Amino acid sequence: MDSAENDMSDTLQELPLGVLSPQVTQGSFHEPIAREDTQQSEQLDKSSLGLENVAAQKPSFQPRQTSGKYNLNDFHILRTLGTGSFGRVHLVRSNHNGRFYAMKVLKKKTIVKLKQVEHTNDERRMLSVVAHPFIIRMWGTFQDHQQVFMIMDYIEGGELFSLLRKSQRFPNPVAKFYAAEVCLALEYLHSLDIIYRDLKPENVLLDKNGHVKITDFGFAKFVPDVTFTLCGTPDYIAPEVVSTKPYNKSVDWWSFGILIFEMLAGYTPFYDSNTMKTYENILNAELQFPPFFQADVQDLLSKLITRDLSKRLGNLQNGSDDVKNHPWFSEVVWEKLLCRNIETPYEPPVQAGQGDTSQYDRYPEEEITYGRDGEDTHRELFSEF
Ligand code: AMP
Repeated sequence: MDSAENDMSDTLQELPLGVLSPQVTQGSFHEPIAREDTQQSEQLDKSSLGLENVAAQKPSFQPRQTSGKYNLNDFHILRTLGTGSFGRVHLVRSNHNGRFYAMKVLKKKTIVKLKQVEHTNDERRMLSVVAHPFIIRMWGTFQDHQQVFMIMDYIEGGELFSLLRKSQRFPNPVAKFYAAEVCLALEYLHSLDIIYRDLKPENVLLDKNGHVKITDFGFAKFVPDVTFTLCGTPDYIAPEVVSTKPYNKSVDWWSFGILIFEMLAGYTPFYDSNTMKTYENILNAELQFPPFFQADVQDLLSKLITRDLSKRLGNLQNGSDDVKNHPWFSEVVWEKLLCRNIETPYEPPVQAGQGDTSQYDRYPEEEITYGRDGEDTHRELFSEF
């Protein structure tokens, strides 16, 4: 067994699981925000869309045809797995093959009210082109008169966020394992000119073996040049987004640094209960490391969480290679990791394939009114679903 495998597998016992710890310095979850693009950026964004052109430039960017294959009658709705600003995610079971899936349901009225039509259509488009071991797979979409629906793989192991809060913080090799898998997912998205824009532990799920699956493409966007939209989650947002400068993939590398920091420390570096103060910290505060952070990770983080875009690792000439070649990742055998051929540090205690929801919190259930007939004033806005 090589050193990377030793490094990763030895960590299982180190995780202080089951020890429910109080919040360290922040609330129970990171709330996302989104503000509409300026007129200028709307123009830019529109010119940067048009995935037909992309398919021509990049052979791997081929949207899968998913629309029209499914409808609500194909699924039996079970419990709620999570809620977001615009709807909720249910565990569902296919009436055809008996398998379990996650069904994300977004209310058209809310999407329109919160000016998220373009983001919702982008989410569908982005999910229909991505195919990567560490990214959620979407199987199909459809709509009724009030909602749009996305059918995805059900990821049984729960959110990295829950594991992190239970553990308080991760030992260095555990954080490194999750960071390395996330790094490969970001590298892949950026290779397709997709920026993800909402990296945080709530959006990193663990599959039944403990490998990561990035979910929630609500802010993901095809951006070959630059964009301006203020979106993301306050303590994870990059300074160039806060200061409404044009930005690109650089923002994901900043958030990647914040994610590593939070996994190791148990809190994010710029958090404040007042969001405006959080933004101020992101723009001005000095990055301070807890004393137990090792020198190599301090070096990596100060190169990711840097306001100077000409110095930020991942954003330089060698792209993600600079991150992967950093000494903190020196034990990682990237090719093996991509093949999921490295033992995970933690195997979620789930019964695979049984619709086991033990790793997800309970949410109050609402009466299901999906699929009823009624007037649909927004259908044309979501014509791809
Ligand atoms: P989202 O609105 O996409 O962020 O989803 C809200 C929450 O639903 C997530 O934070 C997860 O807890 C849960 N969730 C989303 N997608 C899935 C999935 N494919 N499998 C299991 N749970 C999911």
